[in-house]
Amino acid sequence: MSQRFERGQLYVVSAPSGVGKTTLIRHLLTKLPFVRFSVSCTTRPPRSGETPGTDYHFLSREEFQRGIREQRFLEWAAVHDAYYGTDGDQVARWLEEGWDVLLDIDVQGARQIRCLRPQCLTIFILPPSMETLKERLLKRGSESPDQLEKRLSAAQQEIMEAPWYDFIIVNDLLHEAQADLEAIFRAQRCRRIFQSRRISPFLALDEP
Ligand code: 5GP
Repeated sequence: MSQRFERGQLYVVSAPSGVGKTTLIRHLLTKLPFVRFSVSCTTRPPRSGETPGTDYHFLSREEFQRGIREQRFLEWAAVHDAYYGTDGDQVARWLEEGWDVLLDIDVQGARQIRCLRPQCLTIFILPPSMETLKERLLKRGSESPDQLEKRLSAAQQEIMEAPWYDFIIVNDLLHEAQADLEAIFRAQRCRRIFQSRRISPFLALDEP
């Protein structure tokens, strides 16, 4: 399963903050060598432990606005007071080279990608319940009570978009959610449309 194909599959993964999406994506990337992660551009400052060029391309507002004018982004959106956008050239190049490409983007970006690239597959990660999400955000301890309330009401709004996604994964037990995410990517690769080059040698009849 490590070979590249003629053309890759585009995936969008969205989730409210605190659901564990980053952990799931990092695990997937260690398991599946045919998946490329699209590093987004953002105007928010780096958090501790984040590496420029690996987690995000950190841009100034001016650089980001220039990117919008020059149509650098496949999609972009304002999320939590910052701009976020997907580098369109990079994604197109990887898909043409046969890599599967994963976009970790919010529900506004997912809506844009669904229109621009209808063949994309979209995955929404849900918490088991709003109570569990609140507990996880509290445990993280990075939000003030005011921010916590904002995150929870944003989460509620984002979850309203879940019915428009192709796949829903509930991140209750981490190892099960990891297996579910991997299964989606692996099953898609087994589809006939991605396997025609593997089948055709068996179908070639010898000349009499
Ligand atoms: P964070 O700042 O916590 O890394 O991300 C905040 C939100 O922005 C997350 O929902 C994440 O999926 C989303 N996001 C990250 N990159 C992009 C992007 O390129 N486009 C859009 N639309 N959202 C993004």
